[in-house]
Amino acid sequence: MKNEKVFRCQCYSEVLVVSSYEGEDGIEFAIYEQHPFRILWKDRIRFAWRYLRGRHPYTDQMIFDKETLADLVDYLVELQNKDL
Ligand SMILES: [Zn+2]
Repeated sequence: MKNEKVFRCQCYSEVLVVSSYEGEDGIEFAIYEQHPFRILWKDRIRFAWRYLRGRHPYTDQMIFDKETLADLVDYLVELQNKDL
């Protein structure tokens, strides 16, 4: 059985997918780019401003807010403790 959880970057352009498989060691991390078709213009301007300020210059970087980061940490700890 595959366990999978998706964490969205604050810019809405990428997602981090954390996957694990029952009976197998290790965790798989994958970053996928999304095309922001459904983003409002005000958000596009906000994201553009972030890029201009150098907050997110590379597509292989991701930014998580505190809530998403806490969710990611909780999920990783949950996966770590699953087979103990
Ligand atoms: Zn991003």
